[in-house]
Amino acid sequence: MKPDRRRRGARVALIGAIVLALAAAGCSAAPGGGSTGSTAAPGTQGNRVLVVTTNTVFADLVAQVGGERVESVSLVPNGGDVHTYDPRPSDAARLSKARLIVMNGLGLDDWLTNLVSTAGAAALVVRLGEGLPDVRYLSGENGAANPHLWLNVANAERYVARLADALARVDAAGAPGYRTRAAAYTRRLQDLDAWVRAQIETIPVDQRRLVSFHDAFPYFADAYGLQIVGSVVAAPGQDPGAADVAHLVDAIRAAHVRAVFAEPQFNPAVVQAVAREAGVRVVTDLYDDTLGPPPVDTYEGMIRWDVERVVGALR
Ligand SMILES: [Zn+2]
Repeated sequence: MKPDRRRRGARVALIGAIVLALAAAGCSAAPGGGSTGSTAAPGTQGNRVLVVTTNTVFADLVAQVGGERVESVSLVPNGGDVHTYDPRPSDAARLSKARLIVMNGLGLDDWLTNLVSTAGAAALVVRLGEGLPDVRYLSGENGAANPHLWLNVANAERYVARLADALARVDAAGAPGYRTRAAAYTRRLQDLDAWVRAQIETIPVDQRRLVSFHDAFPYFADAYGLQIVGSVVAAPGQDPGAADVAHLVDAIRAAHVRAVFAEPQFNPAVVQAVAREAGVRVVTDLYDDTLGPPPVDTYEGMIRWDVERVVGALR
């Protein structure tokens, strides 16, 4: 199925109209979800700064930098697909209460832009992945930059620096705490980066070859010395044709790829069929755009989990 952007745009506009109508009628703008019921100022939950993110990976980065001072909420839940997400009316209500809105940009979560304007959200919007200095952007769908920068841990450190700056802008009183927490968390990410490097080096060089369901791992591969042999879909929501699948199976055999990886937010059936056809192992739980249950409930946990799966399957 191809995502129908026009229909989604119409749906966003409809949600915006619903929110405005509810606000005009003096109703809670969170049908089904319930309002917070507090008398706190917009952008605070009690005394906490409300930060709304598009996915749960960014929500964890916000929580690491924000600590107790911040309430971070992801619009796309764990296991949801951030590429093809259809916003709900309660999402617009959350955005209108946020002090900071966090997205990746680069086409990953463009649906948020319309939603922010139709919700009338006045919060600062930060795009973590766009215009980062000293980053070599890799090409993705239709020649645009691939958006999955955070799967290189060094880029996650850049996201953290940008988050600390954004939090300090919307909550100046908390700035010293944000900088301290960001510095401590960055040291942990530097250790994580070194650990990933050491783990991948245990895989024989000619076996460091990746095939995933969607094209989420080019920055990971580029940073840690793996080769991307292919992905099953050109983009989430676009099913491959029979010729595409046959071409991928040929590439897997030619490169002697030892395993293919599926991701929990997508149906694994096509990857399983590709693996069967190519005669290789399939690993169905490689995380990228969403966190999951413990121990995959943090960015650090997700990276460790993925690296253990990759090393286990390719070594
Ligand atoms: Zn993705």
